[in-house]
Amino acid sequence: MDRILNYIDGSFVAPASGQFLDNYRPRDGAVYGQLPDSTAADVDRAVAAAKAAFPAWHKLKRQERAQYLYKIADAIEQKLDIFAAAESRDQGKPIHLARSMDIPRAVENFRFFAGAILHQQERAFQTSPEVLNYTRREPVGVAGLISPWNLPLYLLTWKIAPALAAGNTAVAKPSELTPATAFLLAQVMDEVGLPKGVCNLVFGLGEKAGDALVAHPYVPLISFTGGTDTAAIIGRRAAPLYKKISFELGGKNPGLIFADCDLEAALTTTVRSSFLNQGEICLCTSRLFVQESLLPKFTELFVERIRQLKVGDPESAESFMGPLVSAEHLEKVDGFVQRAKAQGHTILCGGERVAPSAALQKGFYFAPTVISTQDASSEIMQQEVFGPVVTITPFTDYADAVEKANSTRYGLAATIWTQNLDTAHHAAADIKAGQIWVNTWMLRDLRVPFGGMKDSGIGREGGDYSLEFYTEEKNVCLQIGRNRL
Ligand code: NAD
Repeated sequence: MDRILNYIDGSFVAPASGQFLDNYRPRDGAVYGQLPDSTAADVDRAVAAAKAAFPAWHKLKRQERAQYLYKIADAIEQKLDIFAAAESRDQGKPIHLARSMDIPRAVENFRFFAGAILHQQERAFQTSPEVLNYTRREPVGVAGLISPWNLPLYLLTWKIAPALAAGNTAVAKPSELTPATAFLLAQVMDEVGLPKGVCNLVFGLGEKAGDALVAHPYVPLISFTGGTDTAAIIGRRAAPLYKKISFELGGKNPGLIFADCDLEAALTTTVRSSFLNQGEICLCTSRLFVQESLLPKFTELFVERIRQLKVGDPESAESFMGPLVSAEHLEKVDGFVQRAKAQGHTILCGGERVAPSAALQKGFYFAPTVISTQDASSEIMQQEVFGPVVTITPFTDYADAVEKANSTRYGLAATIWTQNLDTAHHAAADIKAGQIWVNTWMLRDLRVPFGGMKDSGIGREGGDYSLEFYTEEKNVCLQIGRNRL
């Protein structure tokens, strides 16, 4: 049985309590490993190591820090198949998706921020011939990094890479549901000789290890990606300690399909945007709004394609969707769908648990589900399901589409399908979401601001935004020459 250990001060160590948690394999529901059930004692050790490592790491030249990040990227890339297999086994996503999306994107995160730190600029203000103001960007200290289970390595490295590039040291707490690739990352960091204590990984539960990190007095910065309700708890803990905070949270992302769209392109991408990674991507489309005149045709073609999606063994190249991440999450998703059914919404396809084979009967599989509904205030259209479930609802005109798109507490992402530039341009302005895609989905440019509006988050990640978050800009005012003020 695989046993994961904490990575603290350059050593792989068991938790202080000696207690471990079971790690389940979504494919067949079996326990296949264990991870530390870390407590405040482990977090204390990790923070002490990160604090001790900070002065030397921060004083390294940018190029030297960048070199470490490039080495980490190269080492992950060399082990791409090992990482992809671990991620698929741990999280349930098809192995081909881990290989083509999550792991390459994690590699890219390290390469991107290795390059970005070399281009980070500071500023100067010539106040008068004798007075110069200039700014210095300084790392904040020990960064507390908390990540979720849906894209485990990709989202963890999206935090670790900029934090380290900017000169911080880090204590990361990956999701307890998907520790495997984080553990492999610790091994890679160890192999490439990252100085001890620079990046520490503490595994365990959110309310224990995560909470200890949030509440730790020597951790001045918390970057959290996860649920909106969890963020409220973290915010309450961190605010009295004046911590710097970034929250990347949940979504209920609308997809607007106007009658003048390129139907084939809209259909093909919307299938992916709704169900890729079992719908377990914060950016997945979960509410589809289709213009009335197109609704019957779109619905027929969409549902036909969804019925053909193969839900199966994540190890098979044939599977488009694997199992959900955990038995508890399966329960949650199923609960939403059964309540929607009981409330009279129409299940157009899916709506039930499935088993791809007798051997995988205990896995956490759920059929891709499309629900027709007109009730924008219903639970299924308001709450984040975070699974393979999408609603489909008609809209009459532009104003109706925008009103419906904006009718939840969330504002993470939206997708607009139209050939009309005016419609696209106005909808992009009128929809309250941090990321708008027009006639596409999930295209990525690491320099752009990423983050949610409304209850989907605080702050922005991406290129300069991350480097800004992981540093503090200090101003120095300098009197030069003899004419003193
Ligand atoms: P979650 O909030 O349950 O957990 C996220 C992380 O927080 C885990 O590591 C968990 O252990 C930790 N945690 C839980 N309680 C904590 C506490 N009290 N103190 C400190 N840490 C705590 O979320 P999840 O179920 O792992 O992830 C799914 C959620 O993440 C969805 O809502 C999804 O939309 C969101 N998400 C957002 C983005 C984004 O970029 N906006 C990306 C991916 C996922």
